[in-house]
Amino acid sequence: ENEKRKYIKGRKLGEGTYANVYLGQLRTDPAVLVAIKKMKVQREQDGIAYDAVRELKFLQELHHPNIVELLSVFNSKDQNLNLVLEYLPLGDLESLIRDTDRVRYGAADIKAWMGMLTRAVWFCHDNFVLHRDIKPNNLLIAADGEVKLADFGLARSFADPGVNMTHMVITRWYRPPELLFGCRSYSGAVDVWSVGLVFAELIIRTPFLPGNSEVDQINRICQAIGTPTEDNWPGVSSLRSYAVPAEVYPVPDKKAWMDRFGGVGAEGVDLLCKTLVLDPNKRITAREMLEHRWWRTDPKPTRKEDLPRSK
Ligand code: ADP
Repeated sequence: ENEKRKYIKGRKLGEGTYANVYLGQLRTDPAVLVAIKKMKVQREQDGIAYDAVRELKFLQELHHPNIVELLSVFNSKDQNLNLVLEYLPLGDLESLIRDTDRVRYGAADIKAWMGMLTRAVWFCHDNFVLHRDIKPNNLLIAADGEVKLADFGLARSFADPGVNMTHMVITRWYRPPELLFGCRSYSGAVDVWSVGLVFAELIIRTPFLPGNSEVDQINRICQAIGTPTEDNWPGVSSLRSYAVPAEVYPVPDKKAWMDRFGGVGAEGVDLLCKTLVLDPNKRITAREMLEHRWWRTDPKPTRKEDLPRSK
C-alpha cells in the first residue's frame, strides 16, 4: 500500500501488550523519524481489532501539543494494523521518576509536567473522550521536553450511547474507587483520579497506592484516603461490588497530606487532595484543575526546554 511505502522500518523501540513499536524514517526525507506501532494479531474474534480501530478513531480526531500525533495508518501483508505516530525519543515519565540516582527534579518541574498532563486530559474530556489508562508509563517525552499522553488503546468516547462500559479498565494502581466498586456509568472523574495518582507519584517518586490485587487496592485507598461511606459518598453502598468495610478509616486531614506531599507547597497539596476525592461527583474536573491557584503561585513551572531528562 502507498502509506506503507512512505516509511522505512528500522529497529524495534519497545513492546507493549497490544503492539510492537519500531523506529521509522520518511523515505523522501530520512531525517524525519516516526514510531511505527504494529498491532499484534488481528483476528476479529478476540476483539483486538476493535481496540485498534478505536485507538485510531480517537487519535485521528485529537490534535493537541500534549497528545501523541497519529500521522498515518496502513495494513501490512500479514493483515496487521500499523499506526505511524510522532517519534518521542526521550522515554517516558515513569523512567524519569524511577531514575533517582541520575535525575533530580523539584516543584517547578512537577508543575510543568502536571500542567502538560492536565491540559491533555482537559482537551480529551472537552472532546467527549475518556483516556482511561493514564499512568506515568503512558506519558512520553518529546525531544523538546513536551510531555504527551499516549496509548489510546483503551480510550472510548463517553458520548457513545448505551454502551455497557466494562470496569476492567485502567491499570490497577491508578484505578479509581468507583471502578473498583463496579460502577458502570462513569465519567471524566476516572481520569482525574489517575492524574492525582501520577501527581502523588511525581512528588514521592514511588507509586502511592501499589495494590497487589483489587481487594488490596481498595484497602490501600481506604487507609490512605479514607473509607468510602454513605456519609462521604452518597450512593456508594449500592454499587455492584461494594462490600461493607471491616474498619472505617477517616479521611485524612490537611496536615497528614502536607507531611507527605508538602514538597509542592500548600496550594499543590490542595490541588492533589481535590483530585483524590472518593466521591467521583465531588472530585475536581480537569477544567477546574486548570483554574486552580497552584499554577499561579511560586515557583513558576519550568520551561519545557529546561526540564530534567534521563538521557
Ligand atoms: P501497548 O499499547 O501495546 O501497551 P505501547 O504504546 O505501550 O504499546 O508501546 C510500547 C513501547 O514502545 C513503549 O514503552 C515505548 O518504549 C515505545 N513507544 C511507543 N510509542 C512510541 C513513540 N511514539 N515514540 C517512541 N517510542 C514509543
